[in-house]
Amino acid sequence: MMSGHASQALLALGSNLGDRAAFLDAAVASLAAEPGVCVLARSSIYETAPIGTAARADFLNATVAVATTLGPEGLLAVCQRIESGNGRVRSVPNAPRTLDVDMVFFGNEERCSARLTLPHPRYAGRAFVCVPLAEMLALPPLNAERGWDWLRARLDALPGGLRHPSPACRPWKR
Ligand code: ADP
Ligand code: MG
Repeated sequence: MMSGHASQALLALGSNLGDRAAFLDAAVASLAAEPGVCVLARSSIYETAPIGTAARADFLNATVAVATTLGPEGLLAVCQRIESGNGRVRSVPNAPRTLDVDMVFFGNEERCSARLTLPHPRYAGRAFVCVPLAEMLALPPLNAERGWDWLRARLDALPGGLRHPSPACRPWKR
């Protein structure tokens, strides 16, 4: 249960090291266990070739929608703690990672700092974010959430390669 004013945020999960699906599941479970965070929906899992780094392992990706009484900075701290708790080690940029939890949207919030840019600056060009996001926004209870209509319209307007079905972002079966 949450009291006080809640915002909705949309998170993007990725893993390309170790038991990838288990890390995505662990991220959702950790979010659900977090005080002040309630998981509303999650997309199915997609498999994606890594961008720009041909030698690296494929990613599993998914998105999660949460309602939270935390602010954007507080939720980012939760995401980073969940990454660290799941073996994420920051070395070089784009290094293989057990778990990446990015904040794509926090309601309609717009801001830009090194620590937190909202919306996430690179989401619109990434099938592995846009495809699961569109799927998730069509699932209950988010399908009844008029507050995301502007995002549905934006996702619908993206070029075909960023929408389902996309060879760049394939449904993954457990
Ligand atoms: P990436 O996800 O781009 O591969 P990292 O997960 O290592 O790389 O994130 C690098 C930094 O990006 C983080 O330390 C975080 O402070 C910053 N950052 C800025 N905006 C966001 C956002 N919307 N979601 C997550 N991290 C963000
Ligand atoms: Mg990240």
